[in-house]
Amino acid sequence: MDLYKNPVFDMACRQFDAVADRLQMPDGDRLRLKSPKRALCVSVPVRMEDGSTRVFAGYRVQHHLSLGPTKGGIRYHPWVELGEVAALAMWMSWKCALTGLPYGGAKGGVAVDPRALTSGELERLTRRYTQELIGFIGPQLDVPAPDLGTNEQTMAWMMDTYSVHAGHPVPGVVTGKPVGIGGSLGRREATGRGVAYLAGRAMDTLGLAAEGATAVIQGYGNVGSVAAQSLVKQGLRVIAVGDATGAINNPKGLDLPHLERWVAERKTVVGFPESEPLPPEELLLLPCDVLVPAAMERQITESNATRLRCRVLAEGANGPTTPEADRILNERGDVFVVPDILCNAGGVVVSYFEWVQDLQSFFWSEGEVMDRLFRILEGAFVQTLGLARRDGIPMRLAATTLGVQRVWEAKKLRGLFP
Ligand code: GLU
Repeated sequence: MDLYKNPVFDMACRQFDAVADRLQMPDGDRLRLKSPKRALCVSVPVRMEDGSTRVFAGYRVQHHLSLGPTKGGIRYHPWVELGEVAALAMWMSWKCALTGLPYGGAKGGVAVDPRALTSGELERLTRRYTQELIGFIGPQLDVPAPDLGTNEQTMAWMMDTYSVHAGHPVPGVVTGKPVGIGGSLGRREATGRGVAYLAGRAMDTLGLAAEGATAVIQGYGNVGSVAAQSLVKQGLRVIAVGDATGAINNPKGLDLPHLERWVAERKTVVGFPESEPLPPEELLLLPCDVLVPAAMERQITESNATRLRCRVLAEGANGPTTPEADRILNERGDVFVVPDILCNAGGVVVSYFEWVQDLQSFFWSEGEVMDRLFRILEGAFVQTLGLARRDGIPMRLAATTLGVQRVWEAKKLRGLFP
């Protein structure tokens, strides 16, 4: 699988191999489960505001098709490459299987800094990228959603481009759309609320009271900011947050509604009046009860894992902890890890609800969405914790085992064609 050579893909493969070893999976099945089914690489030419043309590299990887259409976000970030997208697609497979969704995993991305483009350039990029994916995506084939650097507007442009091509509206082709065109109530908040819910469940498990507990958040986008607000509703104080531009700290607790307005206007947490600046590398090392990495992969590594001072590590991001760091955290035994494929699954669970609502043209109240979301997350948490305790294994290994087993089972039931 040299095609996907990349440190993030290597990480996803190592996590998978640990599960396959435990399950004594035969080599043939191991390769079938690990290898992404399909990958598409496209060049996306875009006319820029200054009249020049730039060409961006775009990708979509579909990891397996054994349980239903594939599902997963689209990322706009300068570092996007094929191997990273393939790793993220593999994690989506285990995440969907763990939460019982009828999907395989997928992921897409364009190597671009969306903050450096105008809205017109972003729209042309999104529409042309979608056009290049026609035939590869669709409500019964592969259903994109937002991820890092994309949002509801991106999904609206994708849905429109696909629908123009089809000749009729196809809301079920993407999820995470604005509510006005077939999006689901609660989808935007789902990932962050899920992260906070599961962080709360981890605290209960440890016997920690939420009231007066402290949280630190790395990443202040859709996931980090909503997780922060939800944790505050549970009684925690958010004492520090960071984003791509820097980090800030206030031991008494940050005023989040005020910070929200600050970030909306200035696109940075830096300079927020009721806080002190904090060197970004110190953010993850602050003593706190709940640490939420909600930014990029590979943030918790062998160089900082010994120095984390949180009780709960609630992984809002995908792949924030390297296998070396995992080994250190497992040896330490004093940090309760809620692994990414469980912790941030709220987003794709409500994406599934959105897809179901679109296919039925029958829409649910926010209360119904949230009730069903928390029921699914609770079930996945209880099953993961149950397996971890029964077999004395780390939460990540337990969660990945449950996901991998379900995909393996489906492949065995369907057999090998021809
Ligand atoms: N990008 C999100 C994730 O990593 C959501 C995917 C989706 O809703 O399909 O889980």
